[in-house]
Amino acid sequence: MGAHIEAEETGNSGAGRAARRDEAVRAAVEQGLLGPDSPIIGLLDVTGIRESAAELRAAFDAVVAPGTPVLHAFAVKATPLVPVLRLLREEGVGAEVASPGELALARAAGLGPEMTVLDSPAKTPGELREALALGIAVNADNPQELDRIDALMIPHSPKDVGGAPIAASRSPLGIRVNPQIGGGSIEATSTATATSKFGVALRDEGAREWVVRAYLDRPWLTRLHAHTGSQGVPLSLMARGVAETYGLAEEINRRAGRRQVDTLDIGGGLPVNFASDATTPTYAQYARTLAEEVPGLFDGRYGLVTEFGRSLLAKHGTVVARVEYAKSAGGRPVALTHAGVQVATRTVYAPGVWPLRIAAYDSKGRPKEGPAVVQDVAGPACFSGDLLAEGCALPLLEQGDFAAALDTGAYYFAHHYAYNSLVRPAIYGFGPGGERRVAFAVVREAQTVEEVVAESGGAQVDALVGGRAPWGLP
Ligand SMILES: *Cc1c(COP(=O)(O)O)cnc(C)c1O
Repeated sequence: MGAHIEAEETGNSGAGRAARRDEAVRAAVEQGLLGPDSPIIGLLDVTGIRESAAELRAAFDAVVAPGTPVLHAFAVKATPLVPVLRLLREEGVGAEVASPGELALARAAGLGPEMTVLDSPAKTPGELREALALGIAVNADNPQELDRIDALMIPHSPKDVGGAPIAASRSPLGIRVNPQIGGGSIEATSTATATSKFGVALRDEGAREWVVRAYLDRPWLTRLHAHTGSQGVPLSLMARGVAETYGLAEEINRRAGRRQVDTLDIGGGLPVNFASDATTPTYAQYARTLAEEVPGLFDGRYGLVTEFGRSLLAKHGTVVARVEYAKSAGGRPVALTHAGVQVATRTVYAPGVWPLRIAAYDSKGRPKEGPAVVQDVAGPACFSGDLLAEGCALPLLEQGDFAAALDTGAYYFAHHYAYNSLVRPAIYGFGPGGERRVAFAVVREAQTVEEVVAESGGAQVDALVGGRAPWGLP
């Protein structure tokens, strides 16, 4: 218990994180990871990631009844990097996957089926078959998907999904519901609106009764899933989504006359503070809110699964990019850097919704001093909207300096967007390094231009010309 309180009070202090980041940028320049020939990298703060994982565990340990099974499954889509998944595995954190690629990443990181949950909204019969054969937990998104699972579970089912049924899958199975409690401030990431594409819309006519019957007819449905949070959704609204889901589990179990639903998957979606280094809200606040708003959730009758993504990784990632040129246009200074739409796609296309903080470093990687000047920080792509930040007040960025886009550990540099065939930058993890102060480990090598050519049909160079008719595959 003492350790938990300590983690909550001292863990992930914004100041500690900022100091580690400053040291890492300087060390990256000193050690040659950043420079004229490698003008952009991503950095991951390993200490910070471990601290956030510990805070997550401690927050729920502090509220659940002793002995309650809890699986924290990291939403792989937030940072789909194998070494990150392996690091989290070491911290006792599993994986929530939503595509064949994400499942493959989780398996490559050594995550076993008991630590993996499959949730995607458009699973093919082949994916369902693989998940059930592996024993991975699956949440069915809709009635048609449940039909497919039926056909895999029940021998001699008339429904043909291809291949023989899986005789006795160990997969814990559930249904994803949408409590339709309303969205947050960001339309594109709100999952619990009335017309959201995810899960069974609980308040639609007949839907709740359909869900209850689906459980009563299938003794093997033992989980219930909802993911209602996301950036822009307040804690109270997230808690309401969980309360609705809990209420439905109670109803199913009452009507079944037994504890059929034994595990609630409450999703992820804790918002992240992109405005400063402080971590708000915290996992501890959210867990306490749930304990207050959903009495019974933590009393030991239900095992729990969580699926946090952004809140585990966002604040531990930094994109650092060299200022190639500094110029002025219409009286406004513009720093032309190597970080733009390829690493900060959401921010560039929706800057009002996803603003990023920028930190200025000098050519030696030291925090830049000087009066704040209103300037644009631009990326390398060939369209005028390619701005990391517009009109931001920073010490004036000059040629050879570095601009850092902060809080980019989730949904940014691990989500490369191949505009202008810009290469994926290298990503390094950093931690305390003894004599060198900061030590780096390669998490992902930079993509080479040869790889760009190969991934752009390089081997098919003559596919559309010459003697071969382009429309006549052999
Ligand atoms: C995206 C997603 C998550 C993670 O959301 P964050 O906002 O990154 O915490 C969890 N569960 C499901 C089903 C998701 O689609």
